[in-house]
Amino acid sequence: MPRLRGRNAKILATLGPKSSSPEQVQRLAEAGADLFRLNFSHGSHEDHKKTFDAVRRAEKTLGRPLAILADLQGPKVRVGTFPDGKIQLSEGTEYALIDEESTDKPDTIPVPHPEILAELEEGDTVFCDDGMISLTVSEAGDTPKVTADFAGELSDRKGFTIRGKTLPLKALTPKDREDLAFALQLGVDLFALSFVQSVSDVEEAKAEIGGAAPLIAKLEKPGAINELEAIIEAADGVMVARGDLGVEYPPEHVPIIQRQIVREARERGRPVIVATQMLESMIEHAAPTRAETSDVATAIYQGVDAVMLSAETAIGHDPVAAVSVMSRIISATEDAPDFRGSLRQFMGDREAELSIDVVARAAQAFALVEQAAALALRTGSARRLAQFSKHRGRFKILYGSADRPRLRRAQLLWGVHPIHIENIEQEDWPLALMKAANLDGAIAYAAWKGDDDETAWEIGVRRG
Ligand code: ATP
Ligand code: MG
Ligand code: MG
Repeated sequence: MPRLRGRNAKILATLGPKSSSPEQVQRLAEAGADLFRLNFSHGSHEDHKKTFDAVRRAEKTLGRPLAILADLQGPKVRVGTFPDGKIQLSEGTEYALIDEESTDKPDTIPVPHPEILAELEEGDTVFCDDGMISLTVSEAGDTPKVTADFAGELSDRKGFTIRGKTLPLKALTPKDREDLAFALQLGVDLFALSFVQSVSDVEEAKAEIGGAAPLIAKLEKPGAINELEAIIEAADGVMVARGDLGVEYPPEHVPIIQRQIVREARERGRPVIVATQMLESMIEHAAPTRAETSDVATAIYQGVDAVMLSAETAIGHDPVAAVSVMSRIISATEDAPDFRGSLRQFMGDREAELSIDVVARAAQAFALVEQAAALALRTGSARRLAQFSKHRGRFKILYGSADRPRLRRAQLLWGVHPIHIENIEQEDWPLALMKAANLDGAIAYAAWKGDDDETAWEIGVRRG
């Protein structure tokens, strides 16, 4: 019997004006999106509620768990809004920065953050829109002035970052607290927090979520990279948020930091997502550049759990095409002859540290010997499930549960195929999972039997 095939790495698609209708969400899921991101930096609560409902409806129609991630803006500094939604900056022109939400004055950029304007010093470099716009401060003061280094378009609510400055910012702004409460009430499956600077930022957000959903720390500040191991340990997962990372650091450092984060996260069994500009040119074009294709493949070769689409699906020309292209790149890379060798390079050669490492490896080896179609897993613990996924085994993990939120959260994990099953305690649960996945032949399984004092696993095989 052949093994269960299909992608191991997952796709996280950002929903926005071009993709949040029920029809579009369903098409994105059919094209391969496993998780959906509501970006609380944009859109109203009412918009997010509609989008949330659209994803839940698509899940029901398709019969496949789909996860919803609420991405909290964090202390990200953004420009305000313009009457036309954008302005054209011309090279060498001077612009005044004013503490307003919006402006129609010529040569003026609204930046509704007085505490940030006060930090600007003559000669500072400011980046907007993930580094696409570069400005030099020509005059400090209450109404600072900047000169555009290049021509370009600056649109509503783009990021505003002073390179190399540590700013006195709290992890959760009042807006984040409101958004978080709203998202909790909606019942989102995962949270992400932008601009994490320290372990205490992660702890503060986790306390606010109160165990209702896991928290992904978005790594984009030097402070977070300096405390990388502790933050990975404290969070339930991490995102390589390359847009702002490439503004805070010179862009040539981004690939190096990406490798470092992926390695550290994978060694600890924490899910890791690579985000931003993955298929950027598909915002406007029908096909990606070769360089973008290669970038997605690189992340897959590194063994990341998920790759993310941002503006490509939120406001892009063809969101469904972006997901299809991403899915094809993932499949092709995972089928490449050197894929498994590359995966191993990104895990180091660490000895098993926990008994679960031994069990997870043994279960995979057992599945191979028994020529199983997949590996069924029964555990009520998200951490134990992630520890199984961590080994990046050849066999798909069929994760069965009656608990829908648990299944949705499992969508983030590499190689995990979540399946709804009413009674996971039944005698023949591995066979039930095998049937639900349309497989036959043999199924290997691992089941957690331990308690607080005892670690105990059962490994076996069943034939249908
Ligand atoms: P982040 O730093 O959290 O990624 P971002 O501003 O880069 O924030 P993305 O989700 O990466 O946001 O999307 C990229 C761009 O797509 C945004 O800058 C914005 O112009 C547009 N966009 C995304 N979502 C929405 C939305 N819901 N409404 C309007 N525009 C959106
Ligand atoms: Mg960002
Ligand atoms: Mg972005």
